[in-house]
Amino acid sequence: MNYTTIGILGGGQLGRMLTLEAKRMGYRVITLEPLPNSPCGQVADEQIVAAYDDFRAVGELGARSDVVTYEFENIPREAVEALETDRRLVRPDGRVLRTTQDRILEKTFLRENGIPTADFTAVTSEEHLTLAEAAIGYPAVLKTTTGGYDGKGQWVARAPEQARAALDAARGQPLIFERMIPFDRELAIIAARNAAGEIVTFPVTENVHDHGVLSTTIVPARVPESDARRVREIATAIGRALEIIGAYAVEFFWSENELLVNEIAPRVHNSGHYSLDATQISQHEAHIRAICDLPLVQPHMWVPAAVMVNILGSGTGDRLDGVDVVLRETDLKLHLYGKAHAALRRKMGHFTVLSTDVAAALAVAERARAQLRWSDRRAGIAV
Ligand code: ADP
Ligand code: MG
Repeated sequence: MNYTTIGILGGGQLGRMLTLEAKRMGYRVITLEPLPNSPCGQVADEQIVAAYDDFRAVGELGARSDVVTYEFENIPREAVEALETDRRLVRPDGRVLRTTQDRILEKTFLRENGIPTADFTAVTSEEHLTLAEAAIGYPAVLKTTTGGYDGKGQWVARAPEQARAALDAARGQPLIFERMIPFDRELAIIAARNAAGEIVTFPVTENVHDHGVLSTTIVPARVPESDARRVREIATAIGRALEIIGAYAVEFFWSENELLVNEIAPRVHNSGHYSLDATQISQHEAHIRAICDLPLVQPHMWVPAAVMVNILGSGTGDRLDGVDVVLRETDLKLHLYGKAHAALRRKMGHFTVLSTDVAAALAVAERARAQLRWSDRRAGIAV
């Protein structure tokens, strides 16, 4: 193998899952993350405790790694550029990060490549807003062009006064003004591309969000095969046009007569967690193979259907009750991220149910979800 040590910028659950897969494959992993004892740091060989804009620490991560990657795209682009200036290998590279960090650049890239998106325009002032209203109209979704995730930095506007309130709330940050899409379903796909140009695609998923946070992923998505094929083709076209190296996710809005790309994430993604249990290669392994110049294989499901449920904090306590009941399900895999505090809608863990069909998987998943509850202020799992 060409590489022995992987550096990861970011210490959350995505880094943790990447690390667990990398360790299985024999790699050393160093993570850089400001909060000590992070979900990733708990399982990595080492955690450098430093801010992402501490360029001395970032430089140290680069010097000690054969390849550096990141587990979320809101790290300062300058950190990746500093590594590249030092001639360190960063995958995906700074050019990919630049395009995908900024919603305007991202949607412009998609449009230039003939890929349909919601109509959008940039809004940084009251005058721009008036132009956006004329060009796109209401209802609309306004989002900060950078820094948003899990629905943060977003405002739905059904009338001009709500859009003006969003502009005030953004306090001078540039916004994107998008047509609000009346979709029937949200779809997503994980793909991976290596430096040799090989691209593989995972099964198309259906995603259900709650307050902008992913709640459930259903695989395979309940859409016609021709639409699933189109999703795979678009994801492949994006990987090829961006020349991305690594795993990436593409989110879509779907209705019977419209398929639009919502966004691209240049990293492993929550909607691909099912792959740890449901496909013969996980998104995390695909990412590691891609960034380490190893071959990719086309993922396929072990079973016909899978449902992934996020275990989100409720803000009512840090102890997870009901795990003993959930673990009685025969075809359910539980993943917890080692986070101490279950703040409201914080991603604390997930479980994946495998079954013979989507309806059966959903029934077990909902039964299990109903059993889990946060109680008390003490951390830990109650059995
Ligand atoms: P994030 O980076 O926070 O994931 P997204 O653009 O994916 O940002 O928005 C989060 C969620 O908000 C989407 O999954 C979707 O449910 C909803 N949403 C975002 N943009 C639109 C839109 N233009 N029309 C309808 N719903 C939207
Ligand atoms: Mg999203």
